[in-house]
Amino acid sequence: MYRNFKIVPQIIFGRGSFNQLEDVLQAKRATPDSYMVFVLDDVFKGKELEQRLPLHKGDMLLPVNVDDEPKTGYIDQLVAQVRAYNPRTPDGIIGIGGGSAMDIAKAVSLLLNNPGSAADYQGWDLIKNPAVYHVAVPTLSGTGAEISRTTVLTGPVKKLGINSDYTLYDQILLDPELIKDVPKEQWFFTGMDCYIHDVESLEGTFLNEFSRAYGEKSIELCRQVFLEDHPDKDDKLMMASYFGGMSIAYSQVGACHALSYGLSFVLGTHHGIGCCITFDYLEEVYPQGVKEFRQMMAKHGIQLPRNLTKGLDDQALNTMATVALGLAPLWENCFGKDWQQIMTKERVLELYRKM
Ligand code: NAD
Ligand code: ZN
Repeated sequence: MYRNFKIVPQIIFGRGSFNQLEDVLQAKRATPDSYMVFVLDDVFKGKELEQRLPLHKGDMLLPVNVDDEPKTGYIDQLVAQVRAYNPRTPDGIIGIGGGSAMDIAKAVSLLLNNPGSAADYQGWDLIKNPAVYHVAVPTLSGTGAEISRTTVLTGPVKKLGINSDYTLYDQILLDPELIKDVPKEQWFFTGMDCYIHDVESLEGTFLNEFSRAYGEKSIELCRQVFLEDHPDKDDKLMMASYFGGMSIAYSQVGACHALSYGLSFVLGTHHGIGCCITFDYLEEVYPQGVKEFRQMMAKHGIQLPRNLTKGLDDQALNTMATVALGLAPLWENCFGKDWQQIMTKERVLELYRKM
């Protein structure tokens, strides 16, 4: 069975297009007592971007903190905050920030129309009702969260996305001007998330012409950004993120993401840096990709943290390996159906011990 793949239906791309947000939302303000909720990464509190939000009377500004990557308990708390602000359901949720803020806005828009806790919906196609209309405005590029059908959440028992066609944004607004001030290391780590999506998709056994078309373009854009320092690098990275997301949407990520999930579950390592840490140990699996990644690191003077797992006891390492090996589709994409013979628990533990 081939997947019937839903995509984001409306997209604005261009420098300064953030100014069009007002017009986009205007069309969705159904009645005089309509209101919108602006989910804003709190890094922008008191900054120019906050002043530029097209807030109307009655709209809610909901700053969110992303020091920790999104947790289901935090989503439940934010949903309660929106309900307490106005018992009427908002007409739109606008997520402004990196992958974390965009995922939070997705989850809030879903949970406003679906009863219970965000944790109840971690999995595949568990959401029953369409989300509130939701819009993404990325301020950091690489994750592809702007176009994916998941919102990655850490719950009480698992780190797993709410995967659903309803999760997808209704509208995205891609303004390359918004990513120009991202701190260098963060820019690199999140950008490498995209580069790694491309390598894992292009080197995977699930590859098909659809994914290849997007993945090849995305990796070419990454090279222009991270090796050639192209003058239009912000525009290019924003499109690379989108194309990388489209590539994995119809294939899958691979070994690096599987290992990074284990690291993140046990140590709370953030996604972009976690992928960089694990990728650097996967020379045997992705020789060309790792070589080029190291060139990119050298060009930008990036140092990765080392010895993260030093001092971890066997139980913690075991949990890491169990989380990683639990992601069967990722391993199957990487090594094929017989992946369990290739990536044994001992080999995973060996890799983690080196990190
Ligand atoms: P992030 O959203 O966690 O942000 C990282 C840091 O950058 C934060 O401190 C944030 O405040 C700051 N930041 C964001 N924009 C900025 C700007 N313009 N200027 C200055 N600082 C800025 O980082 P990320 O790498 O974009 O996202 C990681 C998250 O995305 C993780 O939670 C991960 O699980 C999730 N993710 C989701 C998907 C998906 O498909 N839904 C895919 C990959 C990763
Ligand atoms: Zn990723």
